[in-house]
Amino acid sequence: MSVTSCPNKKSVDKKEQLIALKKKMQGDKSLPLRQGTTNLVFGEGSPNAEMFFLGEGPGYHEDRLGRPFVGNAGMLLNKLLQSIKVERRDVFITNVVCFRPPENRDPLPEEIAAFQPYIDEIISTVGPKVIVTLGRFSMGKFLPNVRISSVHGKVFKVNYGGKEVTVVPMFHPAAALRRNDVMIMIKNDFLRLPEIIKKIKSEKPKIEAKQMSLV
Ligand code: URA
Repeated sequence: MSVTSCPNKKSVDKKEQLIALKKKMQGDKSLPLRQGTTNLVFGEGSPNAEMFFLGEGPGYHEDRLGRPFVGNAGMLLNKLLQSIKVERRDVFITNVVCFRPPENRDPLPEEIAAFQPYIDEIISTVGPKVIVTLGRFSMGKFLPNVRISSVHGKVFKVNYGGKEVTVVPMFHPAAALRRNDVMIMIKNDFLRLPEIIKKIKSEKPKIEAKQMSLV
């Protein structure tokens, strides 16, 4: 079978692009926060994911394993995905910074900015239907000057770099582990995700039909 007729070519291409991007990041000595870390936490999941989860930054366990959301917050994220019958391997998960900030401090604006071109490339390679931001740092990337307590669980169509992306801001799972009211809110917000994806999918054919009628 020739490469062009291979049905999985797109998926294979995306996987290869992500692998190449990870290698580029590993070799990019200009990236901040590298010092004292064990691993770059590039992110993981399906190159064709419909749902893209963007967290804050790796913690101790993530740094040790080189994987995102594998500590307590990650266990909660896994449970939330189970609650909507979505396999973790079918979504994509990463963070606004990919090296662990020292002592788990908040990432600085300039650190987030340094990782931004890479994160944007991961997002555009995967091409998800919806980006779920976990916590205020990833929310700020798409929705500056809003309060998470007012906007969590809502659907935003955002013009990001000239492209429309659908963003659903949510609380960070670590915050839900600290506060029961936040836990209730994040659980309810997750339960709405399948319906949100369904709606986005139902909108697409309408646009295509409109485009087709113009041809
Ligand atoms: N918290 C995050 O924001 N990201 C992780 O990967 C783990 C914990």
